[in-house]
Amino acid sequence: MSQKVRVRFAPSPTGGLHLGGVRTVLYNYLFAKRHGGDFILRIEDTDQTRFVPGAEEYIYNCLKWTGLEPDESPLHGGAYGPYRQSERKELYRQYAEQLVKEGRAYYAFDTPEELEAMRHNYKSEQNPSPQYDHTLRLKMRNSIRLSKEETDKLIADGTKHVIRIKMPERETVSFKDMIRGEVSFDTSVVDDKVLLKADGMPTYHLAVVVDDYLMKITHAFRGEEWLPSAPVHVLLWKYLFGLENMPQWAHLPLILGPNGKLSKRDGAKYGFPVFAMSWTDPKTNELTEGFKEKGFLPEAFINLLALLGWNDGTEQEIFSKEELIEKFSMERVHSGGAKFDYEKAKWFNHEWIKKSAVKSIKSKVKSLFEENNIIVSDDTFLEKVIAVVKDRCTLLSDFIQQGSFFFQEPEKYDIDAVKPKWNEAKKNFFLSFTEELKAIPEWKSAFIEDAFKKLAALQNIKPGELQLPLRIMLVGGKFGPPVFEIAELLDKENTIHRIQKALSLFSAG
Ligand code: GLU
Repeated sequence: MSQKVRVRFAPSPTGGLHLGGVRTVLYNYLFAKRHGGDFILRIEDTDQTRFVPGAEEYIYNCLKWTGLEPDESPLHGGAYGPYRQSERKELYRQYAEQLVKEGRAYYAFDTPEELEAMRHNYKSEQNPSPQYDHTLRLKMRNSIRLSKEETDKLIADGTKHVIRIKMPERETVSFKDMIRGEVSFDTSVVDDKVLLKADGMPTYHLAVVVDDYLMKITHAFRGEEWLPSAPVHVLLWKYLFGLENMPQWAHLPLILGPNGKLSKRDGAKYGFPVFAMSWTDPKTNELTEGFKEKGFLPEAFINLLALLGWNDGTEQEIFSKEELIEKFSMERVHSGGAKFDYEKAKWFNHEWIKKSAVKSIKSKVKSLFEENNIIVSDDTFLEKVIAVVKDRCTLLSDFIQQGSFFFQEPEKYDIDAVKPKWNEAKKNFFLSFTEELKAIPEWKSAFIEDAFKKLAALQNIKPGELQLPLRIMLVGGKFGPPVFEIAELLDKENTIHRIQKALSLFSAG
């Protein structure tokens, strides 16, 4: 590519960033880094009625957490700012006026009541939802139907008006999508979209084209839901800047949930996160849990997202960000919907927890413990605990169950698991075992196990029958890493103490 690659993620800050949104970020980011280009974040906030406090900040936090940080953005600055469309308001009108002058767009003065009447009056069986288009525009109050004098007067009187694109009546508009190949549209079915609103703000359609041009965007990747808008954008490019300057488009496949397009509601219904990070709707106070808070590692999150619509043509599934940058290509993104499977998502996280170096997850686990009132005073000990339990953790939150007993005595014991087979012989075994433990030469799991097995043989009890009680004594329940490793980590004093304490509980009642 001769020109420097410049791509953009252009969200409207209206709420939590769902899987599809972050995947769009990821594909943009990977493509930019693959080609030594720039990744731009542009905030598309021209619809002031949809302003949501905190939503923009939330986007920055998500990009930070995933490590997909932009080169240019409202926060990071850059040579093509401002990067927030509301701050670019003055830029757009001239382009809309230019289109009016050239007969490609027109002023429309219709009031909301008139528009409603149009939708009502022209509704028929063949046309259940009439739209403002070439079939109806001559029946409405706009500069195509009105004379120049009437139009000038309305404008001079300060009558509220918008500017609409005049869609050609019968034209085929096509472009080459990097994923879908040649895509064509018949303009006769597309309505005359508003380009400039009555408040002087551009709509998304005008702003996206003007900004992609002014910001020298070379490739525009966005969700498939924007495909129906593409003919309007292609025409705007043609009229304003020439098609040769238009970015290359790629419309990314939908992400599918258990029943069609994945929705926020699916998350609540099936109990999995759909947002990158937790989001609290400021209006309703409704909290939607995110992948981060659920206990996903950002590396796993990126990895699973990359594979929702892409693969490298091999069986490989675990990719680091660096590998993705090296291997990602838009041509290998498929056009069909990508099914999201939460069990598979957890599998990715499990693999990443296993694969992560202890030191790289230590601070996350430590904060998690602290949030759960588990005091970690010795970091080296924490590292040992992580090393012993991490292969058993699917989500970061599993470290609590798998690891907290190393820091505090069990609060509850699964006595029911022991009771039915508990007897005097076993009790005596453990009484002697605590004595044996005191004499162990070196506090290592192999020696502890050895002493345990020898004593069991001496007392003629199967070691298998004693291991579960020992585990319950040390851990409280039927989980955790190999029991002698637990004992080693707990140290001699604690191990003996826990056995003694549990013995009195098991023997009581
Ligand atoms: N503002 C649009 C959105 O919220 C961006 C679409 C595009 O990337 O062109 O998704």
